[in-house]
Amino acid sequence: MSDCIFCKIAAHEIGAQIVYEDDEVMAFEDANPQLPVHTLIIPKAHYAHIGDAVPPELLGQLFSKVGVVAGLKGVDGDGYRVVVNTGEDGRQTVHHLHIHVLGGAQMPIRMGPAD
Ligand code: AMP
Ligand code: ZN
Repeated sequence: MSDCIFCKIAAHEIGAQIVYEDDEVMAFEDANPQLPVHTLIIPKAHYAHIGDAVPPELLGQLFSKVGVVAGLKGVDGDGYRVVVNTGEDGRQTVHHLHIHVLGGAQMPIRMGPAD
């Protein structure tokens, strides 16, 4: 996808603070962190969202890196939150599948409908 910012990061066409990379998956720091640790994990191939017919094997590769990234970021002991925003109601803003790994402080307790 030529106009997709995460495809461009995956292709090293624009910069990011890369935390992890292999042939299929990349993890990099969120540009607008919501907690002290806020890292995104993406497949290098373009899928718009988690329901976009992503091959199960690739989903496995992607999610298997959550624990790896948590370890690299030092939040595996105290815990973290994993979020996959999907579509308009999920407030997905970048339409290339990505997993948020959030930690380094306690998440706000409330999680529910928008005010
Ligand atoms: P979402 O709302 O789940 O689509 O989240 C998209 C995330 O991507 C947001 O947390 C943004 O801060 C982050 N983001 C957008 N552009 C970039 C970028 N160029 N590099 C790193 N993170 C980005
Ligand atoms: Zn993309």
